This record gives sequence, structure tokens and C-alpha cells, in this order.
Amino acid sequence: MSNVLFDRIALIGIGLIGSSIARDIKKHGLAGEVVISSRSADTLKRAQELELGDRYVSSAADAVKGADLVVVSVPVGASAAVAAEIAGSLKQGAIVTDVGSTKASVIAQMQPHMPDYVHFIPGHPIAGTERSGPDAGFSGLFSGRWCILTPLEGTDPAALQALKDFWMALGSKIDEMDPLHHDKVLAIVSHLPQIIAYNIVGTADDLETVTESEVIKYSASGFRDFTRLAASDPTMWRDVCLHNKDAILEMLARFSEDLAYLQRAIRWGEGDKLFELFTRTRAIRRLIIEAGQDVDTPDFGRHLRDEKK
Ligand code: NAP
Repeated sequence: MSNVLFDRIALIGIGLIGSSIARDIKKHGLAGEVVISSRSADTLKRAQELELGDRYVSSAADAVKGADLVVVSVPVGASAAVAAEIAGSLKQGAIVTDVGSTKASVIAQMQPHMPDYVHFIPGHPIAGTERSGPDAGFSGLFSGRWCILTPLEGTDPAALQALKDFWMALGSKIDEMDPLHHDKVLAIVSHLPQIIAYNIVGTADDLETVTESEVIKYSASGFRDFTRLAASDPTMWRDVCLHNKDAILEMLARFSEDLAYLQRAIRWGEGDKLFELFTRTRAIRRLIIEAGQDVDTPDFGRHLRDEKK
């Protein structure tokens, strides 16, 4: 039995996320044809060497011609330019989606360019690693992970279902959310931890009393996991910060208040307050494990990446 969900899929952007999608499309036979486009000739060439698709096209506009599904996987700050480029070439009835980590901004950037004869349905797979580029992707990245879709008012139910079926074929679990709510939730679970990681690693780097070799030598403790986050793609995270500004600033304000509370408790030796907080946070960790949102090794899924090599 054929697994084909779309006759032609166009992938615009073929980095970590785009190439992981490509690998899963191929593995599960979800498309009649996969057409790939990337901004640079080097990345496109690499995608071809890795045999991620069937055709490789330098122009995004040419790539989307005749495509039934278009997946845009570029840094969120590039969404408007990509939407403007592909708009005039989209097929009647095509589904256009994205994978961007912020949703309100991507919608504001892309929607004005979308012709009314296509179905624009924004999305965000909650899966990734700190690596980027076509070599970083791997089949199975989305397996068991949530994919949040933020359909706009009046979205065609059949198109929405077709996109859900696609993500489910990649092994994802689907949630629907209002875009602004998505941005708030992601600000606390993803964007703030990332900013804290950048900050803590930056602070360690600036410390004059601790040498760089000590930072590396003793990094088997908590610091190491922050360096993993802080090694993430600077372009992607610059764009996330600039394009989810309001929600991130709101969460940072809350975070600063809570940090001041902790600071005071430590200064005044209020061990009961510390103990109460640390007990509460331990319970959250247990809930995450019970919800299956943790992998059983401390490598954050890196073994999956290595297995594909
Ligand atoms: P990536 O590995 O760095 O790949 C980025 C892709 O976008 C490449 O094909 C790159 O093309 C292209 N690109 C970069 N700048 C561009 C521009 N200004 N205009 C047009 N194309 C451009 O990035 P990624 O990790 O796959 O992230 C892609 C999207 O997924 C981002 O919106 C990100 O927020 C979202 N996301 C990421 C993660 C994660 O963990 N990384 C998780 C969920 C969602 P060239 O290489 O040819 O320049």
C-alpha cells in the first residue's frame, strides 16, 4: 500500500529541520517527488550529495511550482522574504506551512503575501538539537515529539487534517494553539532557558578569577548542559529573540523577580524558602519524565543522531 500523502512536496530551507523532514519523507515514502531549495549553492549541493530529495532548485519560487505541500524551514526573520518570493508561484490549493520557533511574527510576515487560493497553516515541531545544516538532520527527530499547529481563522478543515496526517506520519503528536499563546508557552519552556544558557556561558567566559581551562575541566557538572544550549545556531536564536520580543521580555521580568527572591533567601540564610522551592521544582522534573518528554540517557537524544551515521 502506498504511503504517499502529497504528489509533490517542496522544502524551502534544508538545514537541521528541513533535512530531518526530508529524511523522514523519504524513509516513509510520503511524497511522489521532493523538490529542495536552499539559499546558498553550498547547502543545496550538500543536500544533493546526501540524496535528501529528487530535484534541487536554486530558486525558491521555481521549487514551489506544482507543489501540493510547501514546508518553509528558514530562520524566522527570513519568513517575509521567502513568502514574497514564493507567493506568485504557488499552486492553487497548495498547503503552505513553516516550522519557525515563533508564530505571531511568522504569521505577520507571511500571511500578507499568501494568495487566497492556498492554505497557509503555520506550525512548529517541538524537536531539535543544537546543531544546524543539512548534515545535522536525522530521521526520527520528530518521533514522539509534539508539533504545534496554529491555524488561522477560517482554515480549511481538510487542509488542516492533511497537514496533521503529514506530521503524524513523521511520528509527531499534534496540538493546536492560538499563535500568541504558543509564543508565551515557548518563551518559558524554550526561549528563556536558551537566553539563560547564553548568559551563564557568557558570564563564565567573562570571569577573570576562573580560568578558561578550569571552565572546560570541571564542565562535567551543571555548566556542561548550558554549553550545549549555548552552542545553538546564533542566527536562529537572534531571530527568535527579535521575533518573540514581547513574550520573552515578559518572562524575563518574571524570571528576574523570582531570581531576586532566591538571592534574598540565600543572603538571609532562609533555608526553608530554598528547600520549598527546590522541592517544588523536583516535582516538575518528575512530571516531565512521566509525560515521556525526557530521554533515558543524559545525551538529549544525541545517540539518535549518531546511530544514523
Ligand atoms: P539551519 O540548520 O541553520 O538551516 C537553515 C536553513 O535556512 C538553511 O537551508 C539556510 O540556507 C536557510 N536560510 C538561512 N538564512 C536564510 C535567509 N536569510 N533566507 C533564506 N533562507 C535562509 O536551521 P534549522 O535549525 O533547520 O531552523 C530552521 C527553522 O526551524 C527556524 O525557523 C527555527 O526557528 C525552527 N526550529 C528550529 C529548531 C532547532 O532546534 N534547531 C527546532 C524547531 C524549530 P543556506 O544554508 O543555504 O544559507
